[in-house]
Amino acid sequence: MSSYDVAVIGSGPGGYVAAIRCAQLGMKTALIEKYSTLGGTCLNVGCIPSKALLDSSHHYEDAIKHFEEHGIEVGDVKFNLEKMIARKQSVVDVTTKGIEFLMGKNEIDVYQGVGSFKDATHIDIAGEKNLTIEAKNTIIATGSKPSTLPFINIDKERIITSTEALKLPEVPKHLVVIGGGVIGLELGQVYKRLGAEVTVVEYMDRIIPTMDGAQSKELLKVFKKQKVKFALSHGVTAVERDGDEITIKATNNKKGVDVEFKADYVLVAVGRRAYTDGLNLDAVGIKTDERGKVEVNEHLQTNVSNIYAIGDVIKGAMLAHKAEEEGTLVAEILAGQKPHIDYNLIPGVVYTWPEVASVGKTEEQLKEAGVAYKSGQFPMRALGRSRASGDTDGFVKILADKETDEVLGVHMVGARVADLIAEGVTAMEFRASAEDIARMSHAHPTYAEAVKEAALAATEDRPIHI
Ligand code: FAD
Ligand code: NAD
Repeated sequence: MSSYDVAVIGSGPGGYVAAIRCAQLGMKTALIEKYSTLGGTCLNVGCIPSKALLDSSHHYEDAIKHFEEHGIEVGDVKFNLEKMIARKQSVVDVTTKGIEFLMGKNEIDVYQGVGSFKDATHIDIAGEKNLTIEAKNTIIATGSKPSTLPFINIDKERIITSTEALKLPEVPKHLVVIGGGVIGLELGQVYKRLGAEVTVVEYMDRIIPTMDGAQSKELLKVFKKQKVKFALSHGVTAVERDGDEITIKATNNKKGVDVEFKADYVLVAVGRRAYTDGLNLDAVGIKTDERGKVEVNEHLQTNVSNIYAIGDVIKGAMLAHKAEEEGTLVAEILAGQKPHIDYNLIPGVVYTWPEVASVGKTEEQLKEAGVAYKSGQFPMRALGRSRASGDTDGFVKILADKETDEVLGVHMVGARVADLIAEGVTAMEFRASAEDIARMSHAHPTYAEAVKEAALAATEDRPIHI
């Protein structure tokens, strides 16, 4: 039987990063993955394929809607969905192969099969060959799966989750998206650009409800301009399929009025659930919470001291970079180091166009906590860079402590803000004041100038360009 210092179950961004960091720190490491490709949800059916489709559909939309205003005449523009999806798959394939390469480079033993606990130091692997390995420590990184509503039968054909939406055989005529969160809006925008009518049914009274209210408002305005329809404050009560037609029933939770939508495809995007099926947690008595998430302490250690858990399978934001930080943290703890994650500084991004990005506290959270704050906001339309590219929607908003001027939150909507948010994270990591950002030189013309201007607005209410 092979013995390891660490076994990692699950090869998503949490698991593979944990395995690499363990190997870098000199531990003999095994990685167990039930699928034949590495990379987990993120690389196979999440972050990477969704961004590939967002980019492809964005190019198409630019060609049909925006090239002309740049003086580019291309005539009849068509797209080929099959090719678009094949390109997406090739991006995924190259990326997952890259993880295989990294495992080899770091001398990590990869086992393909379902890992399940035999006891606290032995893991059975059910794959092509059934075998058992021994591990002094184990990291559970088994991620998450799409959740649904109890009355919905996901048939994976027309009533689908994000996984199927990444490989549809045709563009829906009318796609109803249940859930106006990240997945619903990103994938809804892909199919809207490709010509589908898209209706988003959202239970809350705003889209992306966990982000700053100003971002929800701005993104809603832009999506409505793009002719996406919304039924906010609507809870779905039934989804019924009759042949190719689906009826979605919902109730307006403010007015108590029932409505019906007809669609040929329904994307169910109401969140994801922690995935622990097949792990045999009971064999070792690992505790999960009422939502099925593996319970961990501040060191991400489960109630069994040599077993840790990271990523989507535990509490917190279901984000690839959060899982990665946790993978690194556990590896370093196992090596005797004292790492730390500031969860307040994990950024959140929605890759629609315009993009949406946030770090730190929202205005709603500061109000609720009774923190005295100042707010500075700068519109993208006032930037020369935005006018040059034609991306004038959005803004940067900086929230700072009223007394100390320390930056407490940075919230953005606009072109390339997914990349720009790193400036907010860096500033907050070093506990910068809004004035610190305002006094830094930002290259001209760039979208980043909006960060400087918002900081000026927050510090002294003296932006230069509005
Ligand atoms: P996962 O990536 O889910 O990996 C878990 C792995 O464990 C899987 O490969 C699974 O097969 C394996 N596994 C499970 N049980 C066993 C077992 N018993 N034995 C062996 N293997 C097992 N996040 C972002 O930060 N940015 C984005 O842009 C983004 N886009 C997304 C788009 C979509 C459509 C979706 C669905 C998600 C997106 N996410 C994004 C979320 C991101 O994918 C997850 O937060 C991330 O993958 C979590 O990583 P993880 O390592 O915890 O788990
Ligand atoms: P989400 O939590 O972002 O959004 C789900 C939405 O569904 C919420 O707005 C919620 O109010 C709504 N909802 C819940 N029940 C409903 C009902 N009965 N009727 C109508 N609406 C209802 O979840 P998601 O979009 O499914 O994404 C799952 C996870 O994947 C998220 O945690 C997210 O972090 C991650 N993800 C991240 C990215 C990214 O980082 N860009 C992209 C995709 C997914």
